[in-house]
Amino acid sequence: MRLPLIEELVQNLGSDKVLTGEEIKVRYTHIWKMAEPLKALACILPKTTEDVSTALKICHSYDQPINIHGGLTNLVGSTETLENEVVISLEKLNNIEEVDDKSRTITVQAGVVLEAVQNAAKEKDLLFPLNFGAKGTAMMGGIISTNAGGLRVFRYGMTRNLVLGIEAVLADGTVINSLKKIIKDNSAYDLKQLFIGSEGTLGIVTRAVMKLVENPKSRNSAFVAFNDFDRVVDFLKFMDAGLASTMSGFELIWNECYRGMTTLPALTKPILPKDYKYYVLLESMGSDQEEDRNKMLSLLEEATTSEMILDASLAMSESDLTWFWTMREDVHPFVSQCKFDQHFDISLPIPQIGPVIDNIIIQLDKIKEIEHKFVFGHVADGNVHLIIGKTNDSQELTNKVNDIIYSPLSELGGSVSAEHGIGTHKKPYLKLCRTQEEIKLMKNLKMAMDPKGILNPGRVIDI
Ligand SMILES: Cc1cc2nc3c(=O)[nH]c(=O)nc-3n(C[C@H](O)[C@H](O)[C@H](O)COP(=O)(O)OP(=O)(O)OC[C@H]3O[C@@H](n4cnc5c(N)ncnc54)[C@H](O)[C@@H]3O)c2cc1C
Repeated sequence: MRLPLIEELVQNLGSDKVLTGEEIKVRYTHIWKMAEPLKALACILPKTTEDVSTALKICHSYDQPINIHGGLTNLVGSTETLENEVVISLEKLNNIEEVDDKSRTITVQAGVVLEAVQNAAKEKDLLFPLNFGAKGTAMMGGIISTNAGGLRVFRYGMTRNLVLGIEAVLADGTVINSLKKIIKDNSAYDLKQLFIGSEGTLGIVTRAVMKLVENPKSRNSAFVAFNDFDRVVDFLKFMDAGLASTMSGFELIWNECYRGMTTLPALTKPILPKDYKYYVLLESMGSDQEEDRNKMLSLLEEATTSEMILDASLAMSESDLTWFWTMREDVHPFVSQCKFDQHFDISLPIPQIGPVIDNIIIQLDKIKEIEHKFVFGHVADGNVHLIIGKTNDSQELTNKVNDIIYSPLSELGGSVSAEHGIGTHKKPYLKLCRTQEEIKLMKNLKMAMDPKGILNPGRVIDI
């Protein structure tokens, strides 16, 4: 016999939108754990905002905990569903409603995948600048809810900077519609910000208006080698000034990570020799392919002459660009080398990054269960990713690694999460980068918007 909650959901939404029992076992909670079947009371697949509202109203009346699923690419445990939870997956709300090339906006439903947004913008000769490795799977609702960052934050900002309007549904089913296309709106509180980066704890994002920019006419990249972190920082300032605001990416890759990216099972061939300590993958997007490439080349020559950089390779074709960026974006080849992996995305003031990571690596090297330390990052915005490969997944080892990586952050004014969010994995460490007063205000907000605590309970903060 079905639970009254499930009966009511089926009656109001239809059985095709409410999966139960065997039907949900083909589903999963993360793209990297597809072999582990989803365990939940039910999985709801709304097709409209109204469906989301109906589902929430019913769940709210039963005090039913809900776990929201988007593309399931988050790296903080947020979509690891508990057996007593109902999943609401936004995958069927997947239409691009409008690309408005005059307002330079795109209106999307929550289940649209990032790459589809990029392609739709491109068709109108516009650019949706957000870009990261999971672009083929991550969905706009999840992206907004995690305030995703990625490879071009330095120039275009995080997701937050690209959201103009939002439609979201509150825990009790109330629809908040603010789907505006305007950039400036100081008419009282900016409510959309509540749903951006709050990881589904304050509402379910159903639709959004995103900002587009003019499509740059040129794209150039170079891969550059260093042995000294201070020179990396010098080079960042030098190139940013020299490229006059056209710099769009500055990715730093540490030696072990570069080896992981370019050694079997990774199929990407190396761009430069593998014996430098650091590598930077640089991108500029401007207005004239030839002129901009020559500009980058002359800056690289100047940096070589002044011994700021040790070696460099400039992408000379579209296929070179694909080669350079596939190496950086595809983390699978090196993640697959880890028996168990732990992911970090910390933020630090840029000049501190080199010495802090050196120290972290020294401490990790003392732990025999640690086999890999892959370090890379969107370093122009102070963001470093670490993927730590371990021989086992014990809680003790996980805590030990967390302590080593998180302990320097508080004193340096860093963050335990530059972009992936808090989820469940980082919840115990939130206090390292947020004050007691800030956390109290977050709890007050949660209590005001979801007093029964049914949306993504146990994620981000506890109430
Ligand atoms: C290979 C790879 C590379 C990555 N690179 C980056 C990177 O460079 N930068 C970066 O920021 N992240 C990166 N990520 C992390 C991840 O892709 C982002 O966090 C992404 O924004 C999550 O989107 P999703 O649709 O997969 O959301 P999910 O993983 O499904 O969900 C993420 C969170 O949002 C909630 N949620 C989902 N949909 C909604 C909704 N409609 N309304 C309210 N809440 C919702 C979920 O409950 C969960 O708390 C990467 C991940 C992978 C696997």
